[in-house]
Amino acid sequence: MREEFVKVGILLNEDSCQTQEEFIEEEILLNEVSCQIQQFKQFQLLLNENSVKLEWQKRGLPHAHILVWLIDKLRPEEIDSIISAEIPDPSTDQLLFDIVTTNMIHGPCGNPNRSSSCMADGKCTKSFSKHFTNYTITNVVGYPIYCRRNTDNGEQSFTKNVNNAEIGIDNRWVVPYSPLLSKTFNAHINVEFCSSVKSIKYLCKYVNKVSDMVAFRIENTNVNAPPVNNNNEITLYQIGRYISSNEAVWRIFGFQIHERDPAVIHLAVHLENGQFVFFTNETAIDRAINPPKTTLTEFFVLCNRADTFGAFARKLLYSEVPQYFTWAQTKIWMPRKQGTPIEACPGLFKSKTLARVFTVNPRQTGCVYLRLLLVNVTSSFLFKDIRKVNGQQYLTYKDACLALGLLEDGNQWDCMLTESGLNCRAIQIRLLYAIVLSTCFPARSDTLWDNHKDSMTEDILHRHRTHGSTIKR
Ligand SMILES: [Zn+2]
Repeated sequence: MREEFVKVGILLNEDSCQTQEEFIEEEILLNEVSCQIQQFKQFQLLLNENSVKLEWQKRGLPHAHILVWLIDKLRPEEIDSIISAEIPDPSTDQLLFDIVTTNMIHGPCGNPNRSSSCMADGKCTKSFSKHFTNYTITNVVGYPIYCRRNTDNGEQSFTKNVNNAEIGIDNRWVVPYSPLLSKTFNAHINVEFCSSVKSIKYLCKYVNKVSDMVAFRIENTNVNAPPVNNNNEITLYQIGRYISSNEAVWRIFGFQIHERDPAVIHLAVHLENGQFVFFTNETAIDRAINPPKTTLTEFFVLCNRADTFGAFARKLLYSEVPQYFTWAQTKIWMPRKQGTPIEACPGLFKSKTLARVFTVNPRQTGCVYLRLLLVNVTSSFLFKDIRKVNGQQYLTYKDACLALGLLEDGNQWDCMLTESGLNCRAIQIRLLYAIVLSTCFPARSDTLWDNHKDSMTEDILHRHRTHGSTIKR
C-alpha cells in the first residue's frame, strides 16, 4: 500500500438549492473539483489514485470527501507548497485573503464562544485553537503539524464579530487549505496531508461509511386514538435513514455519489463445489448440473484456454488476473482491451485494477489453506492441481502447503494478522485474534500479540487522541 496521500474535504457554501438548474450546477461543481484536481499541474505530478464520496449535512448541504493517492513520496519541505494553514497577506492576494477569512476559519470556539457546536465537555472536539509553530513538522501519528507563524512576527490577523464581540483571529484558527483549490472554487475546502497507513485506514472508513441511521417511533398524539400496542416491535421502532430534501433530489436525478479509481475487484475463494448456490424446488436439479460460475471457477477455465491468453494466464497468480482480464457480466474472464499493451501476449493489455481475495474465517481450515495456496501458486487447471507439488498429488490443501514449506515455521497466523492489519478495522482484527487463540491454538500467542497489538488497538488510541486525553502504552 502506498503510504502518502492528500485528503480533500469540500463543503459548498451556497444556500440550499431550490431549482433543478441549481442542483445541476451543484453536481457539476462537485464533479469538477475531482476532475480539476487531476488537471492542475501541481496535482498531476502527484495523483495516482483517488476515491470520492458525497455526503449531506443535516441541514442539507452536500459535501465531498476525496482521497488522492500520490505517485511519489512528498518530502516534508514540499508540504508548504501545496497546503497552507496561515492567513494570506491581503496586500499581495486580496482574493485569497477574502476566501480564507470567509471559509477557512474555525470557530472561534473556547472561552470567547462556549456555545460553538464543536465544543464538548468544555473542549473543542477539533482541537482548536492550534499552537503557533514556525515550521511544518511531520509527526508520528500520521498528520503533520502545519506552519502557523505568530502575529508578533508580523503575520496576518483580522477581527471577527462573534456574539456581538470583536475577536482577534490569527493563524491558530486557520483550517488547512490549498490556495489553488480555494481560489478556484471559493468554497470551504479542507486539504490535509496524511503519511501513515493508520490514518489512511481511518479516512477510508470515513469516506466509505454508511448513511446516518436513527431509531424512531411514531405516536398518535390524539387522546381519543386507540392505545398503542407496546408489544408490536414494528410500531415501537423503525430503523430509518435521514435524507434531506437536497439529497433526495440528488438521488432522484441519479447524480453521481461515489467514484473510485482504480477499480477494486473482489475474488471469490471457496472449496470445490463450495460456492453459494441459490435455488428453488424447480431450479434445484438445474443448479446441481450447472453450478454457478465464480471468479475462481472461471480462473481455472481461463487457465485451460488453449490460446495465448490461456498460456499467459497460467503464469499469473489468481490475484493478478484482474489486471489483465476483466470480469464480464456473462461471468467469464475477458482479455482487457485498454491499458498498457503486453509484449509477451499480443492483444492483451494491463490495467491498474486492484484485486482482493476474500478473507476466510480461520475456523474453515480447508479453505484457509486453499487461499494460502492461491496466493502462492500459479498454473492450476483444476482444484486438485492446486494440491499438486513437484508432480506429487496431495490429498488435502494443508498437506500441499506443508510440502511447499508455507507452514514451516507456523507463521501463517502472523501473516494473516499482518494482511488484515492493512485492510481491516481494529475491532475485526481483535475478533480474528480471538478466533485464532480459541480455535487454532497458535504456538506463540504472546508473540502474535506483540506483533499486532498496534493494529488491534488503534481505534482506542485514535479515540483518546481525538478527545485530547493521553494514555500510557
Ligand atoms: Zn472548535
